[in-house]
Amino acid sequence: FIVKTIAVLGGGYAGLRLVKCLTHRKVDAHIVLINNNKYHYESTQLHEVAVGNKEPSDISFDIRAVLPDSVDFIVDTVTSIDRESQQVKLKNSQPVAYDYLVNALGFESESFGIKGVEEYSLSFNNIDSALAVRDRIEHTLANYATSHDENDLHIIVCGAGFTGIELLGELVERIPVWNKQYNLPEDGITVDCIEAGKAILPMLPDNLSAWAVKFLTDHGIRMHSGTPITEVRQHSVMSSDKEFGGNIIIWTTGIQGSHVICESGYAQKRNRVVVENNLAVKGHPNEFLIGDVAAVPNPDSGRFYPTTAQIAVAQADCAAKNIAALLLGKPTHDFQFSSVGTVCSLGSGSGVAQIDEMGHWKLKGHKVGLLKRLVNDRSVLELAHFKEMLASR
Ligand code: NAD
Repeated sequence: FIVKTIAVLGGGYAGLRLVKCLTHRKVDAHIVLINNNKYHYESTQLHEVAVGNKEPSDISFDIRAVLPDSVDFIVDTVTSIDRESQQVKLKNSQPVAYDYLVNALGFESESFGIKGVEEYSLSFNNIDSALAVRDRIEHTLANYATSHDENDLHIIVCGAGFTGIELLGELVERIPVWNKQYNLPEDGITVDCIEAGKAILPMLPDNLSAWAVKFLTDHGIRMHSGTPITEVRQHSVMSSDKEFGGNIIIWTTGIQGSHVICESGYAQKRNRVVVENNLAVKGHPNEFLIGDVAAVPNPDSGRFYPTTAQIAVAQADCAAKNIAALLLGKPTHDFQFSSVGTVCSLGSGSGVAQIDEMGHWKLKGHKVGLLKRLVNDRSVLELAHFKEMLASR
C-alpha cells in the first residue's frame, strides 16, 4: 500500500483552509503545502498596510506554527506544474511529485494591457507590494517640502471596486496623520478616484453604495464615475482627452489568477480555469483549483462565482471533502455556497454591509467597523489559533 501525496499550492485563505480540513478529516495521505513565504497574510487587509494604518505583523502569521507536524511545508516559489508527469516545479528545490493537486495560488493585479500601468502605477497583491505603495506615498509627500510640486500631494486611485473603495476609506483615516507628519495644510492632499463604470459598487443595494460614496465625498474624495482610464503617465492618468494630475497612482481595477496557470498549459482566461461543479479540472479528476485561479460555475445564476475570500474558503472545504472521498473510492460532491453577507469597510470605524443575499439586512456606519473586526477575527481563527488572532488586533 503506497501512501498518496496531496500537493497544495499556496498558503492563502483557500490553501491553508484546505490543509486544515484535510488534517481534521485525518485523510490517509501525505500532505505537502508549498508557499513562497513562511507566513500567511490576510489579503483582505492589504489596503490597510498600503496606507500605514496597519503593520505587516498585524495581518500575517507564521504558517509552520499553525500546521500539524504531519504536514510537510516547503517555502519556495512554484514556477509551473508539469501536469503530464504530475510534478510541481519549484524555483529553488527539487520538483514535488503528487497524486492529488490543489492549486490555490491566488491572484495578481490585472492591467488589461493599458499603456503605462506597469511603469507608472503601483498595485498591491502581497505584503511587499503593499509596503511599496506605502513607501511611494510617504516618499512623494516628503518630497513636496523641496519640490513644491502640487502633484506630489495628489493621489489617484484607479478603479472603484471593493479594493479601491476600501483603500479610499483607509486614506480618509490616514490623511490627517500625514498632514501633521509632513507639515501640510489641512486640504493639502487631494484624492481622485477614477472608475470606468457608470455606477459605483453596483453589486450592493443602491442605498448602501450611495451611502459609501457620500461618506467618501463628504471626506473630500473626488469620485469620477463613467471615466474609463485609457493611459497612465508618469505624472497623470488619462481618460480619453481628460487628464488627472498626480504623482501617486494606485491601480485597483481588478485581478487575474496567478501567472503559474498560463505557465502550466491550462485552458484559461485571465489565468482562471473553468472547473467542474466538484471543483476538479475536466478530464483531470485528481486536480482541484480553488480561490482566485478557479472559475467556478454557479448553477443558479448561470455565471461564475466572484473571487472573494469567503467563497475561496467554502471552496477549500468542498475540495477537501472531495479529495477525502476520492481517497476512499467514494463519489464527490458539487460545490454549494450560501453567502454570509458582504462587508465593505470605510476605514477602521465605518463601512457598509449587506448581511443577507436578498438585501433585506443592511448596515452602514460604525456598526460595520465592528462587524469587519469580527469578520477579520473569525478569518484568522478559522486558519490559526487565538494567539494569532489576538496578535492581529
Ligand atoms: P473589481 O474587479 O471588483 O473592481 C475593479 C473596478 O475597476 C471595477 O469597478 C471596474 O469597473 C474598474 N475598472 C476596470 N478597468 C478600469 C479602467 N480602465 N478605468 C477605470 N476603472 C476601471 O476588483 P477589486 O476591487 O480588486 O476586487 C477583486 C475581487 O476581490 C472582487 O471579486 C471583489 O469582490 C473581491 N474583494 C472583496 C472585498 C470585500 O468583500 N470587502 C474587498 C476587496 C476585494
